[in-house]
Amino acid sequence: MIIDKAEVIVTSPNRNFVTLKLTTDDGLVGLGDATLNGRELAVVSYLRDHVVPLMIGRDAHRIEDTWQFLYRSAYWRRGPVTMAAIGAVDMALWDIKAKAAGMPLYQLLGGASRTGLLAYGHASGKELPELFDSIRKHQELGFRAIRVQTGVPGLRAIYGIASQAEAAGGGAARYDHEPARRGARPMEEDWDTRAYLRHVPGVFEAVRNEFGAEVPLLHDGHHRMTPIQAAKLGKALEPFDLFWLEDCTPAENQEALRLVRQHTTTPLAIGEVFNTVWDFKDLIRDQLIDYVRGAVTHMGGITPLRKTIEYAAQYQIKSGFHGPTDISPVGMAAQMHLGLAIHNFGIQEYMQHGEKTNQVFEQSFTWQDGMLHPGDQPGLGVDLNQDEAGRYPYEQAYLPYNRLADGTVHDW
Ligand SMILES: [Mg+2]
Repeated sequence: MIIDKAEVIVTSPNRNFVTLKLTTDDGLVGLGDATLNGRELAVVSYLRDHVVPLMIGRDAHRIEDTWQFLYRSAYWRRGPVTMAAIGAVDMALWDIKAKAAGMPLYQLLGGASRTGLLAYGHASGKELPELFDSIRKHQELGFRAIRVQTGVPGLRAIYGIASQAEAAGGGAARYDHEPARRGARPMEEDWDTRAYLRHVPGVFEAVRNEFGAEVPLLHDGHHRMTPIQAAKLGKALEPFDLFWLEDCTPAENQEALRLVRQHTTTPLAIGEVFNTVWDFKDLIRDQLIDYVRGAVTHMGGITPLRKTIEYAAQYQIKSGFHGPTDISPVGMAAQMHLGLAIHNFGIQEYMQHGEKTNQVFEQSFTWQDGMLHPGDQPGLGVDLNQDEAGRYPYEQAYLPYNRLADGTVHDW
């Protein structure tokens, strides 16, 4: 089973996606997601110029060896561009191996540990009535767990609010939030951490009063707070029993989470921008978090994310894999297979892809009663319709960034 063809396909149906397609000499096809939101073409070059030539002639069965070869032989380790490229190769090889075995991938990873994956959706609103409508809409769509983001009085545009993105030309009317905007420059948003900290606890009190105690509620701090501010928010939110508080501080400094942890019992989730197990090492070993947010696409594939999550399992830390729309249907499928197989699955983020995306990527997962299942087709269960993909050429798009009232650039 020798790889004799490797193609990098860029398509932009509802947003940009980068997909690696490997074909073996016996005609099996494997797909891997290499999408790095807002920096897509850097990964395209890494793959086309440096990885594809190394793939031709390799034994497609040797997944671990190929991963170690790409990681170690580059000399330059880690980083989102490198790891997204290696991740795409890894996913494509698992897809091929499972197809060769005639099994859905989760069977090769140990078989199903559960019947389906609990998923959460993104509800948002600038004000409470709009937020409540959004939560109800998600419940009608079947979501049992809901992420809650709201506007902050005095701030014009902030992270996570769908209506403001629409007002700024962000696309179709939907209640979740697609932050990357097509255009030659990133959109500028506002930030004021003190105003945010004053506002958020009242929002969760109102949501609990309206929707009751049972519904799992999540919130994303999106890297904005200092450790002591995050500790204060976690403590203030304790009465409202959050499923998790996400990315409360920028996590380059793993030690910061120790301070947060000492002050609050609100569960903590972190790591959607992490690339390797080393970014999680202290957080897991010292039990400073409750959920691993790594994505199969940005952690270098199924192979290393599986090792990371199994390391986390030794400390009762669970999965909460990153699942925004910039994780392509291929990446989402890979995460669903992994989530179904591991013992310490926690929850899966699920922002539904747009209609055009679903025509480009033909998928076999199911979504029923708030639960995802990757389906039982051999491999990942995703086919790429290349004619459809060809209809949507790359369009430049950037994630937004933040400034404080005095003009200082702040974490976004
Ligand atoms: Mg997040």
